[in-house]
Amino acid sequence: MTYGRLDAINLIDLEMRLKRMNLDLVTGTPVQHRTLFGTRGVPRPELINFCFHLEQLTRAGVPILEGLTDLRDEILSQLAKVKNEQLLKEIELKYFSRKGELSQIMKSIKDLSDDARRDAGKIANDIKTELTEKFEALKKTLGGNAAPAVTDITLPGQRRPQWHLHPITIIQEELEELFSSLGFMVFDGPELESDYYNFTSLNFPPNHPAREMQDTFFIDKPNKNGDLDLIMRTHTSPDQVRALQKYGAPLRAIIPGKVFRSEATDARHEHSFYHFEGLMVDKNINFSHLKGMLELIGKKLYGENTKLRMRPKFYPFVEPGSNGEFTCFLCGGQGCRVCKYSGWLEILGCGMVDPNVLDNCGIDSKKYTGFAFGMGIERITMLKYGVNDLRLYFENDIRFLKQF
Ligand SMILES: [Zn+2]
Repeated sequence: MTYGRLDAINLIDLEMRLKRMNLDLVTGTPVQHRTLFGTRGVPRPELINFCFHLEQLTRAGVPILEGLTDLRDEILSQLAKVKNEQLLKEIELKYFSRKGELSQIMKSIKDLSDDARRDAGKIANDIKTELTEKFEALKKTLGGNAAPAVTDITLPGQRRPQWHLHPITIIQEELEELFSSLGFMVFDGPELESDYYNFTSLNFPPNHPAREMQDTFFIDKPNKNGDLDLIMRTHTSPDQVRALQKYGAPLRAIIPGKVFRSEATDARHEHSFYHFEGLMVDKNINFSHLKGMLELIGKKLYGENTKLRMRPKFYPFVEPGSNGEFTCFLCGGQGCRVCKYSGWLEILGCGMVDPNVLDNCGIDSKKYTGFAFGMGIERITMLKYGVNDLRLYFENDIRFLKQF
């Protein structure tokens, strides 16, 4: 087959080189031949350009690629022999380093003309990628420590955000610490409670109006007897009963935990919040023990000069019942916005455990007496930190929580 005026280039040599580079445009079919030469056998300008490009590649690019192919075979045979990291390091230095042979060949491609560089560059890059992958894989198999990462200990460290406990947890733990030091156990009970434990055992008989004070969420699932009596607990007091049933008297226990009420939400009310209750049952426990204990709580929460005031209040499970007010920590009893200019803050409810409750727990109420108190942890925390909206505690806004 003759290519007319293309004789100027040694076509056989060209075809061989093209084959080696997987380019076989010129050896094509009669159709391709016609496309390139036209019907009269005169080469089209595209072909002439192509040939100039091939000529350049032949002069400069092909020797480079040949050198690269030889180097590839050499490196592969060297890598196949590597048995330890030392040898691998030597190979890395000889071929892969910045002044290594592979890098030198890659650099020489830069000097080719534009088109030649594009073609030769692609082939060279494929070979380089293949070799680098083989090398890295071998490095991993040999322990991966060929070039250990160096830690610069003089660099400044990374500052990590410092987190801390939620304000409610802070106060809860402060109180737990105080009562643990006084020999109280920390008792935990279920949040899903039976009507019996939440109300009846605590002297709220069914249909008693006192139940209206604590509306809650009723669970639409019958118990073992088929009764719908499961509710979300409205206070942690049912665990006073559970604790007494489990451990009997004498007993000292505190019960912190989450409780639930069916309430419209506003700045001072939420449908779930935290309670903290205390119970002490023993022989000869009387009202002065309760008062002493409450004074201690006030001092722990709001400082040494805190005073206590108790005024009668009704709770079904205590007799007599009382509230507990402390002198305002902000104005010291002078009157301010926080205490609504009364000088006192109502913090808790308390009283002597009703004998009925003790009997319900299987404790002999003629032999044992006890006191109990309860408070909302949110309220204490709001007063202590001057927070004016209860809902902030549950929104998990980092800007709010960061302040404690
Ligand atoms: Zn005040």
